[in-house]
Amino acid sequence: MIIHTENLKKEYEVGTQTVRALRGINLSVEKGEFMAIMGPSGSGKTTLMNIIGCLDTPTCGSYELNGTSVSSLEDDELANIRNKEIGFVFQSFNLLAKNSTLDNVMLPLKYAGFNKKEAVIKAKEVIEKVGLIDRLDHTPAELSGGQQQRVAIARALAMRPKVMLLDEITSALDPEVVGEVLNVIRSLNKEHNLTMIMVTHQMGFAREISDRVCFFNEGKIFEQGPPEQLFGDPQNERTKQFLHAVLDAN
Ligand code: ADP
Ligand code: MG
Repeated sequence: MIIHTENLKKEYEVGTQTVRALRGINLSVEKGEFMAIMGPSGSGKTTLMNIIGCLDTPTCGSYELNGTSVSSLEDDELANIRNKEIGFVFQSFNLLAKNSTLDNVMLPLKYAGFNKKEAVIKAKEVIEKVGLIDRLDHTPAELSGGQQQRVAIARALAMRPKVMLLDEITSALDPEVVGEVLNVIRSLNKEHNLTMIMVTHQMGFAREISDRVCFFNEGKIFEQGPPEQLFGDPQNERTKQFLHAVLDAN
């Protein structure tokens, strides 16, 4: 088990109001598993990803990442484990605008203390994997949206993480480049035994590639199962409604 959470909760105090973003998440993910997370906006998907990715801490509950109890770690230890174990890709690419593809991908390696020569070699390896070896010197503005997102994927891979977290990585892309980004994810998943958790509205892709789909609603996992079961025979009325809405939008 690479990820294990018990009764994970996250609450935000906003003025006099308490927002209960996560209401008790029990989740176990196996090494090498591809898990898709679906669910309506505001249901807590990003909040969970941020906690799993050690960018945020839960209000209560426990979280173990690769055998380490993360909920008890201090900030610098959290940063350390995040850099070593986690590759995070967001909806927005968050690339440095003035830096080339190579420099953007080298950033986490430099930060981790690799010398320049080692960092260049390691960065080029992952840039090759996302199919951009002929775009090493391009800045983000000189790349398409799909290519920029592939640079972000390469950057997330640079430290050879054990877990990849992908939060709506195709949502900001033009429809015609969604496929190239999903193809990169597909080939990474096939070739490496990388654990992947992906928040997505791409039902077809989730059906084809994921081992398990989790349906989120109101800060809880409402329903989960293999894609053929969750898409083919959802047990819960709310899941059905949501899936129909996604189908209609596609
Ligand atoms: P999703 O990714 O499923 O759209 P989020 O995890 O982003 O949902 O948000 C879950 C809930 O938590 C929402 O109601 C959102 O408004 C609230 N929320 C998220 N982040 C914060 C924050 N920093 N402060 C206050 N409320 C937040
Ligand atoms: Mg979100």
